[in-house]
Formats: sequence, C-alpha cells, structure tokens
Amino acid sequence: MPRNVESTAFSSALEVIGGVEPRIADAIRAELADQRQSLKLIASENYASPATLLAMGNWLSDKYAEGTIGRRFYAGCQNVDTVEALAAEHARELFGAAHAYVQPHSGIDANLVAFWAILADRVEAPALKRAQARHVNDLTEADWFALRRELGDQRMLGMSLDAGGHLTHGFRPNISGKMFDQRSYGTDPTTGLVDYDKVAEAAREFRPLVLVAGYSAYPRKVNFRIMREIADSVGATFMVDMAHFAGLVAGKVFTGDFDPVPHAHIVTTTTHKSLRGPRGGMVLCGPELADQVDRGCPMVLGGPLPHVMAAKAVALAEARRPDFADYARRIVDNAQALAEGLLRRGAKLVTGGTDNHLVLIDVTGYGLTGRQAEQALLDSGIVTNRNAVPQDPNGAWYTSGIRIGTPALTTRGLGLADMDATAELIHTVLSQTTAGTGPDGTASKAKYVLDPALADKVSRQATDLLANFPLYPHVDLT
Ligand code: PLP
Repeated sequence: MPRNVESTAFSSALEVIGGVEPRIADAIRAELADQRQSLKLIASENYASPATLLAMGNWLSDKYAEGTIGRRFYAGCQNVDTVEALAAEHARELFGAAHAYVQPHSGIDANLVAFWAILADRVEAPALKRAQARHVNDLTEADWFALRRELGDQRMLGMSLDAGGHLTHGFRPNISGKMFDQRSYGTDPTTGLVDYDKVAEAAREFRPLVLVAGYSAYPRKVNFRIMREIADSVGATFMVDMAHFAGLVAGKVFTGDFDPVPHAHIVTTTTHKSLRGPRGGMVLCGPELADQVDRGCPMVLGGPLPHVMAAKAVALAEARRPDFADYARRIVDNAQALAEGLLRRGAKLVTGGTDNHLVLIDVTGYGLTGRQAEQALLDSGIVTNRNAVPQDPNGAWYTSGIRIGTPALTTRGLGLADMDATAELIHTVLSQTTAGTGPDGTASKAKYVLDPALADKVSRQATDLLANFPLYPHVDLT
C-alpha cells in the first residue's frame, strides 16, 4: 500500500509515543490489529474516522475551560470557544435544535446534565437555586442535605431495563435512581412493542415530573409524537435519550413522529455509537432549558475536554454530508437483512425483527443463556454482548438475549449479502453450542460446550468475510 498522509500521521504519532512508553504504542497497534480482524456486532460501537481520531491528540487537551462559551472560569480560552461554538453549531444544524451543549464527557453525563436542568426548571427549590449560584466545591453538608430533601420526591417514568431501557433512566444502581422515585413501562408481552395506551395509563397513575423515552436494546422505532402527547397530558417534561439511534436521526432515517428533536423538551445522546464520533455526550434543547443545561459544568461535569469537543465538531461536520444519510440508511437495511437471515434459519428474535440498527436474539430458542451464547460467539471470532430480553427468566447477569448491531460493520462497507453470511455464522455457532454443567453435574448458566474445531472454522470464515472490507484502508503502520 503506498504511503499516504493518514499512514504518516498515525505512524509518526506512534513513533513519538513509543519513544516514551513503547508498551502503550504496542497496545494501540494491537488494538487496531484486533479491530481489523474481529466481526464487531456490538450495537453501541463504531469506527470513528481518522480525522475524528486525530482531532483528539493535540494541545487542546492541555486547556482548562470550566464554564461556557465566552463565560469561562479560566483565561485564554479563545480557541476552546471557537471549537465549542463550532461543535454546537454543527449539532444545531444537523439535528434542527435551538440549543446544543457539547461538553458532556459521555452519555451518562449528558443524562445527568439533563436531569439537573429539568429539576432546576420544574421544582420550586430554594436550596437548588442556592447551590447553582455557587461553585459546587463551596457547598456545605447542610446545603446538600437541604437539596436532597427538596428534590427527593420527584418522579420519573422510563422504559424498563428488560424491555431495553437504560440504567440512567431512574434505576437504582445509577444516581438517577436515587434522585428520582422511578416507575417503568414495559412492552406488550405478545408483540414485544411499546404499548402507548399502557404508557399513558402509567403516566396518569404515577404523574411523573419526567417522562423518558429512548433505549439501549429495543429493536423498533418509538413514536415520539405520541409520547409527547402523553407527557403533556400529565404535565411531565418529555426527555428522549437517543444515544443509540442518533446516527439514524442525523441521517434522516428517523423523521416525522420518529425524530425526537421536534417533540421532546430535551434530548440527550452519546456521540460515539451510530453517530460515529468520539466517545462523548451531548444535550439538545429549546431556549427554555438552555440556561440550566449550560450550567452542566461545574454543576455535575468536570472541566470540558476541548480536544474531544474538537473531535465532536469534526464528526458532526461529517454527519452533515450527504453520504452520511446513505450510511444511516444502509445501517438499517443491513440490520433488517441480518434479522431476516437469522429468522430464515429459525432464530427467535424479540419483536420478530427490527426497524433500527439492532437485533435482539432470544437465545433460549437455542437452549442457551445470553452468557453462554456471548462466549461461544466470542470463541468463534464474533463480538457481541448479552442482553436481557423482556420478562427475562435468567435475570440481568446471565440474560437470555444476544444484542447485535450493524453500525460498525456498515462503516466497514459490508452489505446485504454479507449480512446473510453473518447470520449463517451466528446461527452455526449457536445451534452447535450446548449448555454445560457445573462440577456437581447440575445445569450451569455460564458453562457451555462448543467443538473448538468448529469455533476455529467459523473464526476463519469471519476473517475471510472481513478481508473484503479492510478497516482504515489508508492506514498502514508497517
Ligand atoms: N444512554 C443510553 C440509551 C445508552 O445506551 C448508553 C450506553 O450504553 C448511555 C446512555 C451511556 O453512555 P456512556 O457509556 O457514553 O456514558
């Protein structure tokens, strides 16, 4: 491969890094090699462009910039202002939002910013107002105590975890479950779909301050117009966490009732999943919540990461190009082809298919738990993750599902025929794996039996499939 500018950029960077700590340079090289040879079906991962990756490795990282554009707690932030303003402008234009806050370091952080903004907007809370008027480090124990007492009773209605909701939507292991009294809505046991009448009923009974839509593992579209009507009917703030499907919104695959931006009061997202940017988060909202959202740092966020905001600007600029719409369309076409390929071979899918970028296989149809299936697939060179299915009999640790997604393979260039080949590989492994037993001979939810020769064969087939679609074809580190 002829030497080109991307090869030079990455090779030179690795040479510089290797001059200080060669083991880190080696680990970075090894990560590229691993990613090149694995069939990555993790629905929340992708491959960012070289421009996005390179935007993160530079001097912007050295700058402290607490505050917002033009109102910083540190001097000398003029270049960070430029970067943040550009990222926010691209986000507003791409999603048609009035306001964009691009500082959150991750999706969880973006949700936390949104929750505090909603609380500050909706709750008559003198202690909260006092807290916001000061730097977070200046708050006393008494301030925090008063704050907890004021905010303790607020309610959130979100999608249940086993139906595909996210931990940050009010569940106990996350701080949102301590900030809010949470109730969740599930999906219809027969169709697996969101039952809007049931959501409305739950909202009427529970009267939440916040209604949350958005998911990590629901393979269908959500009608945000109807959800907004439900929120309005009980006076709730309607928040959508589009972390998973932001790329489909950006690429105009989800439009009208399925585009959250015109319907929600506030929208949060990650930037690294289907949107294909750097690891990070973002909040979009109307003018009513903008001031509160902009208080994210230092209220709940550490200092902004200017180098990551630069990479967000680059990725968002890429997502505004016409070819991103084509990419987004192909993500969904590929997911549907993968679902059809699996169904044809007898797999059981939650909701019977997909409208988005992900497919949820119910592996109880193969006599396996999610844990067994995940490991057997990994042994065979196929990277997925286990996930609960609705009313999961195996709980959240072992689970009964495997979640697979197409954003990463679509970035590599795989198409419909390759999805059928991928379905064949997955089905071969799952149908040839059997549940194992523990040392005392009882059924195990973790152990499994898979002929290593078969795992090797599938691994080689996966590598052959990927050989037609080189990852980062212009990056040669040799
Ligand atoms: N929200 C949803 C719906 C997600 O699926 C995820 C990630 O899995 C997050 C938020 C959290 O994102 P992050 O890992 O960037 O904090």
